[in-house]
Amino acid sequence: MFDLTIREVAQKLRSKEFSVRELVLATLDKIQKEDIKINAFVTVCADQALEAANRADKLIAKTPADELPILCGIPFTAKDVFCTKGVETTASSNVLKNFLPPYDATPIKRVKQEGAILIGKTNCDAWGHGASTENSDFFPTRNPWNLDYVPGGSCGGSAAAVACGMGFFSIAEDTGGSIRQPSAFCNVTGLKVTYGRVSRYGAIAFACSLDTVGPIAKTVDDCALVLQKIAGPDDLDATAVLDAPPDYINCLTKGFKNIVLGLPKEYYGAGLDKEIRQAIDETIRIFEGLGARTIEISLPATARSVPTYYIIAPSETSSNLARYDGIRFGHSRDSFGAEAKRRIMLGTYALSAGYYDAYYKRAMKVRNLIKKDFDKAFTEVDAIIAPITPTPPFKIGEKTDDPVAMYLCDVYSGPINLAGIPSLAMPCGFTKNNLPIGFQLIGPQLSESLLFAAGHAYQQVTDWHKRKPNLN
Ligand code: GLN
Repeated sequence: MFDLTIREVAQKLRSKEFSVRELVLATLDKIQKEDIKINAFVTVCADQALEAANRADKLIAKTPADELPILCGIPFTAKDVFCTKGVETTASSNVLKNFLPPYDATPIKRVKQEGAILIGKTNCDAWGHGASTENSDFFPTRNPWNLDYVPGGSCGGSAAAVACGMGFFSIAEDTGGSIRQPSAFCNVTGLKVTYGRVSRYGAIAFACSLDTVGPIAKTVDDCALVLQKIAGPDDLDATAVLDAPPDYINCLTKGFKNIVLGLPKEYYGAGLDKEIRQAIDETIRIFEGLGARTIEISLPATARSVPTYYIIAPSETSSNLARYDGIRFGHSRDSFGAEAKRRIMLGTYALSAGYYDAYYKRAMKVRNLIKKDFDKAFTEVDAIIAPITPTPPFKIGEKTDDPVAMYLCDVYSGPINLAGIPSLAMPCGFTKNNLPIGFQLIGPQLSESLLFAAGHAYQQVTDWHKRKPNLN
């Protein structure tokens, strides 16, 4: 049952093939046996999950099947940056060890209201700072496809958990690639939403102008089911988009004939791994077979995106992390890890008098150029098809001594956050070493429906997303 999609498991719960309690117990058992190898979880909340399972079973018993919310009884996980009422929330940092939030983050609250069952909190790079989950202050997570490799980051725990069937979806967060890159590395599907499409209330802030909340799941269909419930305005987040979300489920089957897909030449240059290039070439042919037209486009500011991101994101994080003063919030500032300290120093420097104009203000100007590149591209194309990472998953320890090498992982993902636009990550192949390869479909602001329609059509004719890691 762990390989089922949300829709399939919901069907089985309704036909009473098994109860929610049985499903939750089986999932907890799987985590206990298999997570020793992966280390996807920082916290498993068995007691709360079983209580919620009992409530869901009662609701299922007394509600006609067609009136039950689709997520009722579905076990899920959340990146450890989301506040969860009464369940330890640490952002994978020693600074917040033992912190018990008194409330649920909005997206968590919304899926719980549907009857979804939080089973645990997943490991990440501390505060979301990283691309391998090795910057967690607790332990690194391993890639379920090969335990010597990283699962990607910062949401490595979320992606690894979904890949292994430990929870059917994860509520995750993407500031510069943290949903898409681990999705690519673990062979799962993940959506980075338009900035503001999902409320950030209760998500521990990394960089407020870049942070976005979205799902990681097995399929595009499952991502749409989750987004439908978590998207929408929120009185508690002034940056949340005010319009109610469209019907994403209905849009899924609309198809996408006559769409034009752009191939940005800067994303297919010499730095791109050959096997990734081959897998994406094949993906492009599949989209063409489905009726899409593809054209080459240019996003000239791409080369500036990593330096721009690594001025803006650390500037914002240095300000956000200032609240953990060891007096009102968090433990002593000495307990920040090396990467958080590096980013606090970088950000404080870039924002300080005398350097602000030279670094932060200039980075904001370049950010605008990056956004304009996309605005121009979307006058010619409906969406963009691109790699997520320049290389396949790398070995644990391979980049830990070289922060710049780690930062360069974000070259194809960071620009999307700087522009505030959505991007859907999906599996599209494997390397000869059996490591997953992913690609992203990038669209203009609030084009999630189009990305879902195109992605769903792709997953109907491919089966990369159905492949599972073998943990034995
Ligand atoms: N790798 C990026 C970073 O280290 C992305 C992190 C994220 O999206 N949270 O900042």
